[in-house]
Parts: sequence; structure tokens; C-alpha cells
Amino acid sequence: MGTIAMIANALVVPELPDVESNVASVRARFPILAREINGHPLAYLDNAATSQKPLEVIEAVDGFYRSRNANIHRSLHTLGEEATADWEGARAKVARFIGARRNEEVIFTRGTTESINLVASSWGEAFLKEGDVILLTMMEHHSNIVPWQLVAARRGASLVYIQLEADGSIDLEKVEASWNPRTRIVCATHMSNVLGTINDIRRLSEIAHAHGALLLADAAQSAPHMRLDVGALGCDFLAFSGHKLYAPMGIGVLWGREALLEAMPPYMGGGDMIRSVGLETSTYNDLPWKFEAGTPDVGGAVGLSAAIDFIGGLGWDYIGRREASLGRRALSVLGEVRGLSLHGTARDRGAVFSFSFADIHPHDIAQFLDREGLAVRAGHHCAQPLMRLLKVPATTRASLAFWNTEEEVERLGAALEAAKRFYL
Ligand code: PMP
Repeated sequence: MGTIAMIANALVVPELPDVESNVASVRARFPILAREINGHPLAYLDNAATSQKPLEVIEAVDGFYRSRNANIHRSLHTLGEEATADWEGARAKVARFIGARRNEEVIFTRGTTESINLVASSWGEAFLKEGDVILLTMMEHHSNIVPWQLVAARRGASLVYIQLEADGSIDLEKVEASWNPRTRIVCATHMSNVLGTINDIRRLSEIAHAHGALLLADAAQSAPHMRLDVGALGCDFLAFSGHKLYAPMGIGVLWGREALLEAMPPYMGGGDMIRSVGLETSTYNDLPWKFEAGTPDVGGAVGLSAAIDFIGGLGWDYIGRREASLGRRALSVLGEVRGLSLHGTARDRGAVFSFSFADIHPHDIAQFLDREGLAVRAGHHCAQPLMRLLKVPATTRASLAFWNTEEEVERLGAALEAAKRFYL
């Protein structure tokens, strides 16, 4: 692992222009934000679905394919060694980004969905027994529900859900008071992609551990917006996707405690994850490669590495302050739109706003807003159990990032008023 550490040290964090006071210079890093949609400047308010990519990421991926593209690990030629250094360098970068103790604890996947499937299949298959309980919350994304249903059915385990308070938060005292001793793992989102609620993963981990259970944190929504430190969060597994973190689609991360990952059987079989292959049986590679079968998305990892540098250049402080201030503005603008009801009003929340509006179907609202150049999402947001709890078939969702502007938030409010006049 000495080589991985060396490569990481060689990667330099680039200086960005003074962005502290200048949103325009940040926006200029994102070429797509200059687009016009239906004759209006694009207001991209769909960051929870996927983020846009800065030039730093686009150019890093371009540079990889222009000058270093080769397959990794098995190659002795120069390009192969450079591509391998890119891949392992990105791993070291991610490890530092989330405060992992060892690079080997970082497994590259295609994204949050694959990361959770990996844990559910591998850990679940090996360690869940009949009658065991998997504890989830009512605000989980389908990616953190269905993989557990699949393994529960195979192992005879069952799924139990933590109910939500009226504001869309979880009452941790109730979680503790109603603890089922057969619970083996708690699977909870760090930030809800519908309600915006930020869950206290540290406390949930403490509760789980006090009862001998593990905790998997779905950080798909939190990773782009706040500093993650797996030590401070206290979780056992953490999953996130590159594409929501300003990096390309197709690359993601599973972090797990080393001892757990060591004890887990491989998830997918194929090239690179083996030590030796016989006709009947095989032996497996060390961590992290045991879980990385087949040719991976090296270009994606290069992009993820560049995205992490980009975030480093901006700083979490900047991102946090910008998004908190935009979020406050959005709350006040949406609060003034008569007939709009917001789903999720927890005190700890990110800048994700799902709402129902004056009996207008969310799809009609989204289409109307698109005509005005505003990109929002409408649907069940891959959270159908939560939709049923909210008693709505779908919601409209606006989700912000640090590059959004107060003016875009005002445009959203004005366009919603116009939609009301149009439809009602
Ligand atoms: N969990 C949450 C909370 C999400 O918001 C998403 C993406 N909408 C996912 C999981 C799945 O992420 P991906 O599609 O990148 O695997």
C-alpha cells in the first residue's frame, strides 16, 4: 500500500479563483450553466438527481482519455502503469476525503445503488439468519430498500421501518425504546432526497452498536453538501455516488470497516478480484480488489478525484454557507407561494424542497417550469413508501447547490405563481 500513499501525496490541490464573494466565478466553471432553455437562462434546480460538472472534472476526464487510457493492474507498459496510478490515486484521494483510516477500506462501485447491493448481498448473505431484522427508515430511497428485501427473502429475515415525526425527522428516543433485539443492521439515509431531513448518523450508529448491530449510511445526498468523516459518523458502511458529487456518472464508493470487508465474501466474480482460479474453486484477491471485478471506470475515478480537488478548492465552509443562505431564501420564497405545502420541515435539513401545490399535478408543474427555463424534478423520487406515507402519488422537488443564485430562487417563486394562474 506504500505506492498508493505515495501517489496520493503527489496529487496537488489546485487553487481556484477567489470564490468567496464571487458566485459568478464559480458558475463560470460549469459550462452547462450558460445554456438557455426555451429562451430563458437555465436555472438548474435538480441537483439531488445529479449535479453538473465543473471544467476541472471535464478536463481531467478528457485528459485521461487523450493521453493515459489503458487497462489497469495487469499491465507493464507505461500507459497501463499511469492508468493504474490514476485509479489507486483516486482511491487514496477518496479515503482522505471521507477520513478513512486505510485506502483498502474504499471500494469503487458504479454508485450508491451498487454499493448498497454489495453490502446487502455479500454481508447479508453471509451474516443474516432466519428471524433477523433489518431496520430502515420510512424515508429511504428504493436503493436502500429493495436490496434488503431481496436478501431478506433469501435469508428469512424481515424489514422493520422507523416511523417519521410530522416534520419528517426521526425520534431517536423512540428508536431506542422500540429496539428489536433481533436487529442486525440499521440502514439509514444521511440526508433524505425528498424531505431534505439530515439524520443524526452518529447517534443512530451509537444506538445500533450498543445493541450489537451495524449501521449503513446512505450518503448519496449528503456527500455533495457536507464534510463526511466516517470516524466521526461512527457508521460501519457508507455509500455515495460520484455523479451527485460533481463527478461523472458511473463511479461511486462503498466505504466499510476493514474487519467487516475482510470477513465478507466477494460480491461479483471476474477479472482482478481473484488470486488464483481453478476449475472448481478460486481464491480471492486482497481488499479492496476482492470487490472490484472486471474493468472499472478509470476515467470516472479520475473525474471523481478532480471533483474532490474542486471541492477542496472551494472549501466546505464556502459550500455550507452558500447553500444554507440559498436554503433560507428558498424557504421564505416558497413560504409565500399560497397553496404550496412543503414536505419535510425538520430543523436539520439540506436545501432539498419537495412540495405539493394547489392540486396541480407535479408533472404539469415541472413541464410549466421547464418552459420558463427552470429544471425541477417531479415524481415519486424512488421513495414510494414515503409517498404513501405523505399520501401523495408524487411531489415536485427543487434541490439547490452552491452555484445556484438567489435570483434563480426568486424565479422559481414567480414561475409557480404563473403556473397557478395558468392551471387554475
Ligand atoms: N440514495 C439516495 C438518498 C439517493 O438520493 C439516490 C439517488 N437519487 C440513491 C440512493 C441512488 O443513487 P444512484 O442512482 O447514484 O446509485
